[in-house]
Parts: sequence; structure tokens; C-alpha cells
Amino acid sequence: MFKILDMELGKNHIGFTYTATGRKTFTTFNPKLNQPNDVLFTEATVREIDAAVELAAVNFDRYKNTSGKKKAHFLNTIAEEILTLGDTLIKMYCQETGLPEGRAKGERGRTIFQLQSFANLLSEGSWVEATIDTANPERKPLPKLDLRRMNIPLGPVVVFGASNFPLAYSTAGGDTASALAAGCPVIVKSHPMHAGTGTLVASAIISAAKKTGMPEGVFSNLNSSGIEVGQQLVSHPKIKAVGFTGSMRGGRALFDLAAKRKEPIPVFAEMGSINPVVILPEELDKNTLYWAENYAKSITLAAGQFCTNPGLILGVKGNQFTNFASLLANEISKIEPNCMLHPIIFKGYKTKKQQVQSQSKLEALVENNEPQSDNFTAGSIARVDGDTFLNKTVLHDEVFGPFSLLVECKSLEQLKHIINNLEGQLTATLIATEKEAAANLDIIEALQNRVGRLIFNGVPTGVEVCNSMVHGGPYPASTDCRFSAVGVHAIKRWVRPFSFQNFPDSLLPEALKDQNPLNINQTRI
Ligand code: NAP
Repeated sequence: MFKILDMELGKNHIGFTYTATGRKTFTTFNPKLNQPNDVLFTEATVREIDAAVELAAVNFDRYKNTSGKKKAHFLNTIAEEILTLGDTLIKMYCQETGLPEGRAKGERGRTIFQLQSFANLLSEGSWVEATIDTANPERKPLPKLDLRRMNIPLGPVVVFGASNFPLAYSTAGGDTASALAAGCPVIVKSHPMHAGTGTLVASAIISAAKKTGMPEGVFSNLNSSGIEVGQQLVSHPKIKAVGFTGSMRGGRALFDLAAKRKEPIPVFAEMGSINPVVILPEELDKNTLYWAENYAKSITLAAGQFCTNPGLILGVKGNQFTNFASLLANEISKIEPNCMLHPIIFKGYKTKKQQVQSQSKLEALVENNEPQSDNFTAGSIARVDGDTFLNKTVLHDEVFGPFSLLVECKSLEQLKHIINNLEGQLTATLIATEKEAAANLDIIEALQNRVGRLIFNGVPTGVEVCNSMVHGGPYPASTDCRFSAVGVHAIKRWVRPFSFQNFPDSLLPEALKDQNPLNINQTRI
């Protein structure tokens, strides 16, 4: 099996076939060894892009009308096929990202879990939110009509692989799993930094699609190392929605492109976030070292390459916050430098950090800790006063990497003012005693208005995959804060509500039939 995969590794998957007609090729990069990997990938051509979208569009109705049980079997089989890739996948992942084997295996486990969660959702079936208003011909002054509503899939979807989650938020990650579950064929625009990992996973999805009798265009994977392929996909008239995780620049460009189409389509982009942490003095005084140790770990975890990385720590000027800052700096300086995902992300981190640290009135708290080897970086923090932070919006930007800015506010009033002036965020964290929190409900209120998830006495890194998770937030954390990219509710991004009026029972989908053959929750009015 792996021999075939080796042979086909550099190619694009268009439905059930491998093609590579383009001339432009690229390689991935091993950041630990600081050298290119040895597989050549072929950039998808305009013809290949078109073929993938056409195949998805032609087969949309067939896939849409495939039963929930069959789709669930498809998703579960993808999970099995990914496991069958075994160490080949893990080795490829590590060599393309510099991330350790433990992380690769953990992320594979999360990917499997996500696929299985959506399979369970489909097997149960109530996610379509069937709502039935039966007719009442006797109603006065007008008879009431029979109306039945359910969720139906939007159509073919483009998913952009995320550089910082090569498995859980890429080829078979959360966006793909949720879109396939909804009944939308998926075309993945693979992330160029982990094209090999993506191609292996794509082969698992194709194999599962064949084994479970799915229509051919249900999934395609296109390689590219430039923005054109993604732009062509988003502009294609037969694409109906987009999922994206990455930079503010990329996400916004794709959102604008989608809005300018003749038929605008939704783009669910998850972009930058600095995840503010508010630390109140009483709790800080009680547990200074505990919070310093935990935040040193959270800031530097996986070289800070998480969308939930705590990039901003707000406290009130005083002994507690000063002690915390020095303990945090000390803890961070003990942590070994870590390899970043790619030279481009490494360079982006250095440039952005330098831009922030060169601002006047900003004090670096961990200095001279930069390792000499390329692509490796150590954690760092800096401190600034509240007035300067408020006046310099460059300090509000995400520095994607192991960096956090401590803001020393002159009062709780200023701290609240800062929260109200922040852009939308994925998360916020409140470190406080219960009594302190109860006395500062307006801080909780202010944070709630800015974020999608509020954490009490914890760290923002580590996203639990479960039904109650919200991974999204007011813009620019995400382009549509009404939806979550994590957890089974993510399926709602890829569906639209639809009503049948006065339809005979025999012509209704099973979810809306009177006898309820699927035995799902039907809301009857
Ligand atoms: P990215 O530059 O946004 O790229 C993500 C994907 O979008 C890539 O496939 C890229 O294509 C494509 N893309 C980017 N700009 C585009 C455009 N204008 N039109 C069409 N497609 C476009 O993100 P990245 O490569 O993952 O990392 C770069 C930076 O993004 C990081 O340094 C970090 O600042 C940020 N980032 C943030 C998060 C977060 O969760 N907050 C996560 C990951 C990255 P090509 O690569 O093929 O050009």
C-alpha cells in the first residue's frame, strides 16, 4: 500500500484519481534539519481545479441524499484508514513540521475523535433540527398550511489546511469532517508546508470513499504553494462555502474575494487572536508561583503556535503583578528553545516580535535567550504600561509564537477600558478568587462582549473537543462569531434551513415524515 502512496505522493487527488499535469513543483521543508524534504509536489492547474469542482458539483445531490448512517460509516472508515497509515504518517508529519512524535500522535487521536463524533451525530440524526407545523384547515380566518423545516447542505465546500494543525485542522480535520457530515463534498486546498502529510491523509479519505460506496467527487485534495489555487477555488461559481484557519491577511483576503463574487458565499475564517488574560491581585498574591509556572508553559507550548496562545496579560500595577512578572520571566527562561513549523513562520515571528519590542516604553523581561540555530526560538515576554498600550495599536496585534505582553494598568478602571478597546478574540481568561470575580462582574461582562470563550482560573491553550466548546469569536477572531469551528455544532456552518410546504408525506425526506422512521427529535407544533 505504501509503495503506491510513495509513487503518488506528489500528485493531486481529484475524486478517485491522481493527476499531476502542472509544471510548477515545490517541496516541503524540515525545520529541524533546516533543509528541504525530498518529495516534489505538483501545483494544481486551472484544469485540475475545474475538474475537482465540477466532479463535486455533479455528485452533490447524490452525496446530499446519502443516508446519515452511510455517511457515518464513511467518516468512521476515514478514521480507520488514517490509523492504517501508521508510522508513515507520523514520520511525514514530524519531518514536515518539526513537531515531536507525541504531538503527532495526539493530533491524530484528536482527528480520529472528531471524525467519530460527527459519525455519531449522523447516526443519531437529530442535527437536522426537523420542525413540523401540521396543517389546520379549520383555522380562522385563514387555514393553516403544512410546513416542515430541516437543515440541508450548502453544496461543494473549499477547506484550507491550517499550518499549525496539519492533522486536526487540515485535510481530514474539523472543517472537512463537519462539511462531509453536513452532506457537502469537500475540496481541500492543502497547506504547502505539510503537503506530504496532507496527501497521505487524502489517500485515506479516498480509500474510505471507495470502500463505503461514496460518489467520486465527494473529496479532492489539491496541492499548491502560492495563493492562486486558493483564490481560483474561492472564486469558482460552483463553490458554496469556505473554511479557513490562518493569518488575518489570508483570511480577510479570501473573505473579501468571496463577498465580491457574483454570488457571494460564506467564508468561515478563524484568524488572529491574542487571548487576553486578566489577573486580579488577591488570587495572584495567593498563588503567584503556580500561575507563573502555568503561564510559562502555556506561552511556550509548541513554540506558541496555537490560536489560543495567551498573548496579552492584563494586571493592575502593584507588588503582586511585579512579582508575577519576574517569576514568569524566570520560569520562561528555564524552558528549552523549541523548533517552529517553518522558516517563513519563524521569520514572521522574529519580525513581528521585533516590531513590538522596538516600541518606546516597552521593557523586555526575558532577554538574550535567543538560540543560535535556525527555526528555533525561546519564549519571551515584555511589559508596558496601560497608557502606552492604549495609544499604540501595533501592540494589540498577534505575535504568532511564544511571546506575551504584560500590561500594567494604573487602575481597574483602566483595565476595563483596555478590554473594551480590544478587537474580538477567541478566548479570554480571568484569574481571580471567586470573591474577587463576584466583586468585578463588570469585567466578566466586558470580556464576554469581546470573546467566544471565557476561562476561569486556567490557561487558554488546550481546546477540549466537545459539544459545549465554542471556538470562534467576534471579528477578527473569526469572520462569523455565531459559529464554532470545534465541536459538533461546527456542522451548522455548512447547512441552510429549508421548508417544505404542503408536501405529501410520500415525497418528504425521512427526517420530516409523520411516522418519523429515523426516530429523531422532531419538534411538532
Ligand atoms: P496563511 O499565510 O494565512 O496561509 C494559510 C493558507 O491560506 C495557505 O494555504 C495560503 O496559501 C492561503 N492564503 C494566504 N493568503 C492568501 C490569499 N491572499 N489568497 C488566497 N490564499 C491565501 O497562514 P500560515 O501559512 O498558516 O501562517 C502564516 C501566519 O499566519 C503565521 O505566521 C501566523 O501569523 C498566522 N497564523 C495564525 C493562526 C491562528 O490560529 N491565529 C494559525 C496559523 C497561522 P499558500 O501558503 O499556498 O500561499
